[in-house]
Amino acid sequence: MLTAARTVAAVVLVLAGHPRTAEARIGTFWHVTDFHYDLNYTTSGDPKKMCWDTRDVSRSVGEFGDYSCDAPFSLLTSAVNAMKRFKSNPDFILWTGDDTAHVPNDYFSTEVVVNIVANLTDLIASHFPNTPVFPVLGNHDYYPKNQMPVGPNRLQSEVADLWKKWFQQLEGHEENVYDSFNSSGRYVADVAGSKVTVVALNTLIWYKSNNETALLPNTSSDGLDPDEQFSWANKLLTELAKKGRKVYLVGHIPPGTFERYQQERKGFHWYQPRYNERFIQLVQQHAHVIEAQFFAHHHTDSFRLFFEEKKNQEQRIPISYQLLSPGVTPWRSTLSEETGANNPGIRLVYYNTTTGKVVDVSTYYLDLSAANLEGRAEWQLEYNFSSTYNLMSLNPVALYEVAKNMKANRTVFDLYYRANTVGLEDPEKCTEKCRLLHYCAITEMNYSRFYDCNNGVRPSWRVALAVVPFLLVLVAR
Ligand SMILES: [Zn+2]
Ligand SMILES: [Zn+2]
Repeated sequence: MLTAARTVAAVVLVLAGHPRTAEARIGTFWHVTDFHYDLNYTTSGDPKKMCWDTRDVSRSVGEFGDYSCDAPFSLLTSAVNAMKRFKSNPDFILWTGDDTAHVPNDYFSTEVVVNIVANLTDLIASHFPNTPVFPVLGNHDYYPKNQMPVGPNRLQSEVADLWKKWFQQLEGHEENVYDSFNSSGRYVADVAGSKVTVVALNTLIWYKSNNETALLPNTSSDGLDPDEQFSWANKLLTELAKKGRKVYLVGHIPPGTFERYQQERKGFHWYQPRYNERFIQLVQQHAHVIEAQFFAHHHTDSFRLFFEEKKNQEQRIPISYQLLSPGVTPWRSTLSEETGANNPGIRLVYYNTTTGKVVDVSTYYLDLSAANLEGRAEWQLEYNFSSTYNLMSLNPVALYEVAKNMKANRTVFDLYYRANTVGLEDPEKCTEKCRLLHYCAITEMNYSRFYDCNNGVRPSWRVALAVVPFLLVLVAR
């Protein structure tokens, strides 16, 4: 979307604003996610069997993938080659899960899932042998899918062994990174040579489709805080603040509402309501130490804002933000028609190693149709966050301004919307209802506030509406 000259200008601007000194340096890291590797993908033979998903079987599929299918290995290899080409020596890589294809459980087993994770681990490790990698599992990286139990389990432990080389390079806090992941799927580790600490969460135990925790009564301590992950994070963030660390909160499934599902005004959420609330509280309590959050799972490019709790909602102040990274798989979601497909995307984050502040995000993409047509996977820059939205750096206040501008200005919204599907969908398709949904998903993490926002109820009306029943009682007397 942007010219090369503009890219260079943006990077120069970033570097000029943050000089390289012994203390402060602009570092980079890749955030890649949702590879969803389809083992069975083939471009020859029976069109009904070219990929796992057979919704669209009337035509052949392309060499680098298809919008109705998960990713062939050729697409994943091209993505990792592109990472190498655009930034071969990043400080680290965040890899946030969903490695296997969207396939019914009948075709899978723990062994198959572990093999797929092993293939992708090798792919990344062989291209970046000396780069620290911070990985987490996605809901598709367990067998049966989504059903990750609380605590130690076979799959987690086999994956811990696959990732042992990476974990051994990472510096933990009190607990060894390998042991922590092995027993809980979560860990905390510092980014070497910086003040940044990655807190990698096991979000699968908060997922509403995970019966292992969804069926726990919310009166039990396990039901309120599975594997005591909230208590763990709470204690940890308090200690990290005392140590002067800057935290990146990292996970697969995000809290809040999916920004593309229009079927119901209440929206579509991933977390159990009680875990969504606790997540928001955790962020509100520790926003001063959480510099940024990096999540995935939607396959789309969006962001989320967290606010200070205020009685008067219209005066609230944004205190934390979360970036949702697009997926590499182009797979068209089955959730509903409008949730759609996306072009494959990967992103490079520029950050200040001392303050942890994110100064820019460059998203690179593959125009999948063009790649198949040309027989060549030409990854290119899609956009730079800072120059697209005119920001000096990313922070909660600046991102709230972006969200408000999106609501007020169609041109700004269209920039965001085009990026949302990594350049695939025309913003013209997004109606007023669709635009409101995106704005509300970005600005309202609480489910009922999202519902009000998506129904056009202003926060001040909400207070007034809450008083109505009491007034009616008084009148009845
Ligand atoms: Zn996914
Ligand atoms: Zn997922």
